[in-house]
Amino acid sequence: MSVIRKRRRHGAGAVVLAALAALAVLPPAAAESSPPPATSAGVQALHCGYLFDAKAGKRLGATTIVVQGERIREVKPGRAEVPGATAIDLGDATCLPGLIDAHTHLSLSTDADPLRWNLADFAVRSVVHARRTLLAGFTTVRDMSDINNETIALRNAVDAGIVPGPRILTAGRPIGSTGGHADWSVDLRADLQRDLGPKNGIANGPAEAAKTVRQHYKDGVDTIKIMASSSLFEDLPGGAIPHMTLIEIKAVVDTARDYGLTVGAHAHDPESIRRAVLGGVDSIEHGTFIDAASAALMKQHGTWFVPTICVGKIVAEHADEWSGGSPQEAARMRTFGNLMQASAGRAYKAGVKVAFGSDEGACPHGENAREFVYMVEAGMPPAYALQAATTHAAELLKKSADLGTLEAGKFADVVAVPGDPLQDIAVMRKVAFVMKGGRVYERDGKPVSVD
Ligand SMILES: [Zn+2]
Repeated sequence: MSVIRKRRRHGAGAVVLAALAALAVLPPAAAESSPPPATSAGVQALHCGYLFDAKAGKRLGATTIVVQGERIREVKPGRAEVPGATAIDLGDATCLPGLIDAHTHLSLSTDADPLRWNLADFAVRSVVHARRTLLAGFTTVRDMSDINNETIALRNAVDAGIVPGPRILTAGRPIGSTGGHADWSVDLRADLQRDLGPKNGIANGPAEAAKTVRQHYKDGVDTIKIMASSSLFEDLPGGAIPHMTLIEIKAVVDTARDYGLTVGAHAHDPESIRRAVLGGVDSIEHGTFIDAASAALMKQHGTWFVPTICVGKIVAEHADEWSGGSPQEAARMRTFGNLMQASAGRAYKAGVKVAFGSDEGACPHGENAREFVYMVEAGMPPAYALQAATTHAAELLKKSADLGTLEAGKFADVVAVPGDPLQDIAVMRKVAFVMKGGRVYERDGKPVSVD
């Protein structure tokens, strides 16, 4: 259904047919045939009370969006009559482009128990999380790492129309170094630890870094996530330290470019941010300890910033519960958690380009829009916060031709909220209408059956 990925994989059936064709059992033409794409040929007219023009950052008056199949055919001012179209009257609601969250973890959650849960536990839950995310108005996500590629299976199931969910561009497993944030065996007893390698996303040195990216390509990812720094959950000098060398980051980025894959870097401290920016990554994630020099470098290189304030807030809120009874640890979690919001505000004021990312998975699934409220609290104008989740995120994902604005030719991904988000950004938490690819998933604040 979705055509946003460049590379389409042949299904097993196609592979078998191709193999048979190669053996001259079938004519080659038969191997190439595939069912026609499942699109609705119907025309729909969405009558919006107002429309957020994401390009201009302005709220326009009444607008009619004409949808044909999975794309927008036309956008007309006023309440235009469209002969033969199925009309959907959204009253005085404000329509916006389908929202994009550029930092999610659809298969992860704060109650996850990686030592007891099997991969299937993560995979089953991810189906529920994907639906919640879609119903919250997020029609596209960049999933920034899972346990063991289960979000690739989720993406494929959503694309095939088997389960409802947002368009998913997934990084699959994270890439990092031995003992780093991507090494799941780091906290285990010595005899339970494993010496993980490129097959598991662990790379030491440029050759392994390149191999890790190629393995990810083989696995079918859409983007790459690297753990350039440590996490915030370690008591380290300065709060965080680099976990990848510049040469390793460069090897990841150079290799990723061969496959058209973008690279996002988890990086908290200035040195890790510096290396990631100089290594050529597309975005810095979190950036908790971003300083004037790292902000200036990001601005100079046009590197996106995805601040993920929501996860900082969640960590601060749960500091007592998650600090293992250590008051020092709890205090550190509160300080660092709240610092993420202040850092986001400072980076924005320094002219760094910001794209929307909630770190959903740590931020509760379906509550992604909390990030809008935190962004505005941090000093970003509401229109800018909305652009971060539309035009900006589409640009970061290199999907501006298909996503990010309500314009003819783009995917008919449309959401609507009651009221004016430019006056009250909190209405973004009350999405009442969701259309993805011309299909309605929510209306009047209630899910529409998609079975
Ligand atoms: Zn994350």
